[in-house]
Amino acid sequence: MSKVVLVVAAHSDDEVLGCGGTIARHVDEGDTVYAVFLADGISSREGAGVAELNKRMEASEHARQILGITKNYYLGLPDNRLDTLPLIEVIQPLEQVVSEIKPHIIYTHHFGDLNVDHRIAHQAVMTACRPLPGGSVREIYTFQVMSSTEWNSPGYMPFLPQCAVDVSSYLEVKEAALKAYEHEMRAYPHSRSVSHLIALAQHNGAMHGFMAAEVFMIARLLR
Ligand SMILES: [Zn+2]
Repeated sequence: MSKVVLVVAAHSDDEVLGCGGTIARHVDEGDTVYAVFLADGISSREGAGVAELNKRMEASEHARQILGITKNYYLGLPDNRLDTLPLIEVIQPLEQVVSEIKPHIIYTHHFGDLNVDHRIAHQAVMTACRPLPGGSVREIYTFQVMSSTEWNSPGYMPFLPQCAVDVSSYLEVKEAALKAYEHEMRAYPHSRSVSHLIALAQHNGAMHGFMAAEVFMIARLLR
């Protein structure tokens, strides 16, 4: 039976960084994938204006088409300042998206990321998708986003994945989607460089007997 998948990302580009290959595989296998972006990804940057916002939006729509995502939702909350909002103001619009599309599977951020928006996205998901009777969400997975997941203080929860998705056939699609966000990518040896992200997928793959993989921590699995 085909599934409905929702990727909850703090910023557009996190969906590709965290699970671009997995999204492409879901779509290829007949599932319907949506993405929701909480913050605009731009407004915290000095001198950022409408032109930058439009450029970021164009990149997200381009990546959406490459991956086969049905629709992107943009909540437009303030970038890198989600912690200045009462959590309820993040949860409520997310709950609306969840009740509209009734996802079975969620992919979102790891709770131990350095980026505060990522941590709040995780918290908002766990609240918006709490396991009430009759709820649609059966599975919640958290992904790793380079330049955040690996950069936090060791006092935070480490990223210890228990789930690997074989994306050997989708690595080229992931690479194309990463390149749609060329303005967010950096030059090697930055951890958010395309060459490192491909190498990471190959490393994660080789650890599990695949040519390439994306790895996840399981936050909830109901069967
Ligand atoms: Zn992010």
